[in-house]
Amino acid sequence: MATAEPAKKVWTILDLITWGTGYLTEKNIDDARLTIELLLARVLQLQRIQLYTKFDQPLSETELASFKALLKRRLNREPLQYILGDTEFMGLRILVGPDVLIPRPETELLAERAMILLQQMPATDHPLSILDLGTGCGCIAVALARKFPQAEVTAVDVSAAALTIAASNAALHGLEANIRFIQEDMAALSADRFPRPFHCIISNPPYISAEEYGQVAPEVKDFEPGIALTDNGNGLKFYPTIAHLAAGALAPNGFVAVEHAFDQSTAVREIFADHGFTDAEVIKDYAGIERHAVFRKR
Ligand code: GLN
Repeated sequence: MATAEPAKKVWTILDLITWGTGYLTEKNIDDARLTIELLLARVLQLQRIQLYTKFDQPLSETELASFKALLKRRLNREPLQYILGDTEFMGLRILVGPDVLIPRPETELLAERAMILLQQMPATDHPLSILDLGTGCGCIAVALARKFPQAEVTAVDVSAAALTIAASNAALHGLEANIRFIQEDMAALSADRFPRPFHCIISNPPYISAEEYGQVAPEVKDFEPGIALTDNGNGLKFYPTIAHLAAGALAPNGFVAVEHAFDQSTAVREIFADHGFTDAEVIKDYAGIERHAVFRKR
């Protein structure tokens, strides 16, 4: 005689939000509830906000299995942005994957400052010309190209895989014709490589020292590309390269804007001063830490 199968527990959206939030919190995963909601929204192909109108909707077995698989990846410390495949930078959707650094909120401050300075740039016969060194996913280049549709943006990265993603992001925002990508080690570039001087050179280079890199969170260490994060040295390797290029390739009134680590402000200013950039503007990040430096060409 066949025995009846015990009834399978039905999980509604609300059940999973409640259970999952508790579970991720217990496992010390940041932003537990937001994470659960975004994963559920992805599985159910809903906007996150729509979950709130469908709290009682049960998940099918397939949906439940997909949700569990995504949850397991996050529990394994994979960054949420890689699981979702995208993130936001300056209000723009930006595709990401393990070949590129996930854009950080503080980098928006760098891009915002560059936008303001570019807006103030005295008009010339030439369109604005912008160089992004170490573009990664292309978030800075895309944000600037969107803001200045007439600008000529050049984006450089040593990683072909990163440039593939950057190009997808340019395409996603209809900017294929606005951004030129160059696969090159920035140290191999020289000013004569470019047809025209730049009004803005911008860079968020790998600046974590070898020593600090040993201590970063597992999400970063185990999943994000080391090549985008550390110079395997003292963290300052790329600044002389950027300063040298800027000295040769900036237009009159042009500026160079860089991000750096929490303890590199003085060292970065000294490096740029060695290349003739004595006029520094320092920008603090959301934690009040000196995080960016902008130098004007005199
Ligand atoms: N800010 C990033 C981090 O702390 C590092 C970015 C970089 O090296 N350019 O993980």
